[in-house]
Amino acid sequence: MSDRDGKIWMDGQMVDWRDAKVHVLTHTMHYGCGAFEGVRAYNTVNGPAIFRLDEHTERLLNSAKILRMKVPFSKEELNQAQLDVIRENKLESGYIRPLLWIGDKKLGVSPKGNTIHAMVAAWTWGAYLGEEGMQRGIRVKTSSYTRHHVNITMTQAKAVSNYTNSILANTEATDDGYDEALLLDASGFVSEGAGENIFIVKNGVIYTPDLSAGALNGITRNTVFHIAQDLGLEIVQKRITRDEVYIADEAFFTGTAAEVTPIRELDRIEIGSGSRGPITEKIQSAFFDIVNGRNPKYAHWLTKV
Ligand code: PMP
Repeated sequence: MSDRDGKIWMDGQMVDWRDAKVHVLTHTMHYGCGAFEGVRAYNTVNGPAIFRLDEHTERLLNSAKILRMKVPFSKEELNQAQLDVIRENKLESGYIRPLLWIGDKKLGVSPKGNTIHAMVAAWTWGAYLGEEGMQRGIRVKTSSYTRHHVNITMTQAKAVSNYTNSILANTEATDDGYDEALLLDASGFVSEGAGENIFIVKNGVIYTPDLSAGALNGITRNTVFHIAQDLGLEIVQKRITRDEVYIADEAFFTGTAAEVTPIRELDRIEIGSGSRGPITEKIQSAFFDIVNGRNPKYAHWLTKV
């Protein structure tokens, strides 16, 4: 991925893609304390725009706050960097990856006295869990790995180190022939996917785990709350067990990369009709209307590039 043309924003400068490098003694590479975001730009009816840019940058800075990292850039500078990266790389749509990391000034667990750095890259990226998955739904496996407990690595930070847990779960699930993993919390309740929030639908009501189950406070999750309200659908945050997912009428994942992806199976048990459910389809369609600029009510969520 490093060998391509284009520009990456690094500590306030646009750098050639191939030269955007760090030293092997970079603190974050050794101990995993860093924060990142996943943001998407869409080629909307009014041209390229970034979806919920402000909320993503806010979460990035909140992640840094939780991780006690002092970021030398403001929210406005980081917002601008993301817009500039889309423009510089002449992208009409794409995935944006901002990352904050601790530098190479010294090694040892304590980050004190080290420097904090930022970068923003962007590239084109289609449906994260596949185009077919978006239509037909994906197959999911309950992970043998437990999601982080809320007092371990800080689950409201999109922390680099949290993703070892996601990598283990996703690798296990995909090695076993599934598309994605579902992780349970330390008490055995449903938490989230390796990189997605989960929703289920039962008797016309939508349910999603409350954040005490260790799930990230997803921005797409919040978008679905707005969509459900607009559609007159009730949405409830509560503790959910894995067997509630088995007997749900519908289930779907949400995330910036995954967007709204139906789940058709959990642990080889068909959910509902075993295909994309009607409420999921409505939410998916409303989601794509919003991100593509076709719903004026949410025009303020799109920052024009
Ligand atoms: N949970 C995890 C673990 C994630 O990595 C993501 C993706 N950022 C999400 C949930 C969904 O969050 P969002 O909708 O803000 O992308």
